[in-house]
Amino acid sequence: MTTVELVSPFVLEYAYKRSTGPVIGRFLTALRAGRIEGVRTATGRVLCPPVEYDPETGEDIVDFVEVGPEGTVTTWTWVAEPEPGQPLSEPFAYALVKLDGADTAMLHALKCGKDALVTGMRVRAVFAAERSGMITDLAYFQPADLPAPELVPVPAEHPVTRFKAPVHAEYTVAAGATTAEFLRGILRKELNGRRCPSCDKIYIPPRGSCPLCGVRTSEVVPLAQKGTVTTFSIIRIPFEGQVLEPPYAAAHVLLDGADVPLLHIVGDCDVDDVRMGMRVEAVWVEDLQPTLASVRYFRPIDEPDATYESFKEHV
Ligand SMILES: [Zn+2]
Repeated sequence: MTTVELVSPFVLEYAYKRSTGPVIGRFLTALRAGRIEGVRTATGRVLCPPVEYDPETGEDIVDFVEVGPEGTVTTWTWVAEPEPGQPLSEPFAYALVKLDGADTAMLHALKCGKDALVTGMRVRAVFAAERSGMITDLAYFQPADLPAPELVPVPAEHPVTRFKAPVHAEYTVAAGATTAEFLRGILRKELNGRRCPSCDKIYIPPRGSCPLCGVRTSEVVPLAQKGTVTTFSIIRIPFEGQVLEPPYAAAHVLLDGADVPLLHIVGDCDVDDVRMGMRVEAVWVEDLQPTLASVRYFRPIDEPDATYESFKEHV
């Protein structure tokens, strides 16, 4: 018998938006307009990029000052093979640039030939043609003696108070022995749980060990394809990444014989008819795959509702 390795791509993504606060908001608003602003502390030092509190005294920052657009490279590192997501696709340098008028340096990309790179070189900010209030509105620095691209004006809008900060990570997930066994069962239209030898609870999807007792679960227990809706939620609001068309019912289905409910979808009925205690059965897709999505949904069956007393311990 050949063993198919059950691995799957997995994308973890959150479409966060972050609020900027007044200082960073003003800095980003200026970048969108094609200017660079720093902040002046009580002792007269100009910090760029700006900080929200005076690093020496902790006082609020209230004084803003325009700096640049030219500056001096204080140090750099060469990026010979840029990777996706880096500021430039051709070889470039990350440089600390002390903008004229500032006392601190900011880190950014420097577009120039490696032979031209030298600490102390004069550089100039180049702004992106399309700007939306992000640090990338400042596209890169270039040697100051090269002609600067003309600044493309963008419409003056309200001040920047938020920006998108999506989190995106791609994994390859290996199912592991217990889950792989469960998923291979699905290819045979089986819903198999596992029993804890200590507390006798039957878990589905099965776990390799009992979360209550901490012992290995070794006994595979075939479960019924019928069960009881113990609780549910009607999803009426669209959201990013949604697979089903709302409204639909997501429900905890306690399969007959199991001790934990399975989160799935209830279909083939009006969402307003879904209720606690409703009896349902699994409906399979035609093209079975080793995933719980091979159960298309659970549909109502012609059985009296289960009493709350019969499943209340599993809600
Ligand atoms: Zn246990």
